[in-house]
Amino acid sequence: MSDTDNTPESTPNDGSEDAETPRADEAYCADCGEVIKKEAEICPECGVRQKPSDTPTDQQQQSTQQATVGHRQRKLEKIANEDKTAVMLMSFFLTPVGYWMIGKTGLALINFFTFNYFLLGPLIVPFHCHKIMEDAKDELRRSGVEGY
Ligand SMILES: [Zn+2]
Repeated sequence: MSDTDNTPESTPNDGSEDAETPRADEAYCADCGEVIKKEAEICPECGVRQKPSDTPTDQQQQSTQQATVGHRQRKLEKIANEDKTAVMLMSFFLTPVGYWMIGKTGLALINFFTFNYFLLGPLIVPFHCHKIMEDAKDELRRSGVEGY
């Protein structure tokens, strides 16, 4: 009994190693694993539609959210960056102007049409403006904006 039965069963001698390595503009098919173009919507091998990496609706929602946040932040910064002394002085002598300086046009109009809060404006408005400005700074601090 001589065991000359040494047939090599696993010889990795198919010299096509580079066939399955995707290049920069290639990717694996999600279904069959074939190397296909990254931009390919449908795999030419198996015909399965490739899923995009992230849905455009999510991106759109994110960017509108960021825009809203940015808009609010700019508004708050505008309020917080006003000179507090100037606003308080202004709102003592010319109450609606004090409101207007920190972007509270609605409050300025209410103040104007209520005869300067029935002539109590100089006692109220400087401190109200002060509070609005402090609140704006508070919110900027809480949202992690530096310099407040
Ligand atoms: Zn495929």
